[in-house]
Amino acid sequence: MIPAAFDYVRAASLTEAIGFLQDDPDGTKLVAGGHTLLPALKLRLASPNRLVDIGSIAELRGIEISGDTIRIGALTTHAELLASEPLNAELPIFRETARLIADPQVRNRGTIGGSLANADPAADWPAIAVALQAEIEIAGSNARRVAATDFFVDIFSTVLEQDEVLTALHIRKPASGMRFAYRKIRHPASGFAVVGVAAGICLTKGVVTAATVGITGAANRAFASHDAVDFLIGKALSRETIEQAARLASESTQCLSDRYASADYRANLIRIEVGRALLGLAS
Ligand SMILES: Cc1cc2nc3c(=O)[nH]c(=O)nc-3n(C[C@H](O)[C@H](O)[C@H](O)COP(=O)(O)OP(=O)(O)OC[C@H]3O[C@@H](n4cnc5c(N)ncnc54)[C@H](O)[C@@H]3O)c2cc1C
Repeated sequence: MIPAAFDYVRAASLTEAIGFLQDDPDGTKLVAGGHTLLPALKLRLASPNRLVDIGSIAELRGIEISGDTIRIGALTTHAELLASEPLNAELPIFRETARLIADPQVRNRGTIGGSLANADPAADWPAIAVALQAEIEIAGSNARRVAATDFFVDIFSTVLEQDEVLTALHIRKPASGMRFAYRKIRHPASGFAVVGVAAGICLTKGVVTAATVGITGAANRAFASHDAVDFLIGKALSRETIEQAARLASESTQCLSDRYASADYRANLIRIEVGRALLGLAS
């Protein structure tokens, strides 16, 4: 449980952090909250030559709400997302989700940027990013924004290159009348999502005019269930409609199988949790 030796540097700016990464992309790792990376170092699942601490880079901090967009800096902690009144006035799903992540100690240190960049298939924020159709801002030699649905590639794998920094999450404010919910079945030991579902719908005179479903925990990466969404649009949100949408969501991916939950069990949990989330939004 003792990490291999490494150098430690604190980056004063984003430019400096990128410079450190470009200097030695294979041997350098960024550290934000450290609540995923430090356990990995102790278990020697990672042994970088150098850690670059990005924790004091001001431009990676803060939640900005202006016009119809919301920008959440990569270093925003789970606790800040839980506590932010302006953010939760627009999107209470942030509070709903943050309170389901670990314990106060982890929430005070862990960051949304670290969670998204790490791409743990059982992490909570990826489902939210996908369901909110967020864009992920990336800095480096090829600065760009990537849709959350395209950002996650595989287990612990994203489109981020070794010398890139995830700088922020951009969300377009939802149309008025759009409501969201997040539910998860926790793993009893870790608290991570065995299956987590972020759903949103807009009802106009009882008919679904907009919908979104993001799922984490079930597969190798967080994903959107387009089949469920396409089915819901234009339908009255009856119990039968919800059941059919939940079934389509459960069939929209190849689920993971492990010692705790088989693929069939996870698919069934998607069906149950999408159904419960939609039922809650219907009332
Ligand atoms: C006991 C415990 C319980 C937990 N329970 C949950 C849970 O229920 N749900 C959940 O979702 N998570 C959970 N977590 C994970 C926690 O939320 C982590 O803090 C988070 O996933 C990673 O954020 P971090 O800031 O600590 O990242 P770090 O550990 O600092 O970094 C993680 C990885 O991302 C990279 N990285 C970090 N920031 C950036 C960036 N801006 N750009 C590019 N790469 C970057 C690092 O190089 C590293 O590879 C738990 C963690 C612990 C220890």
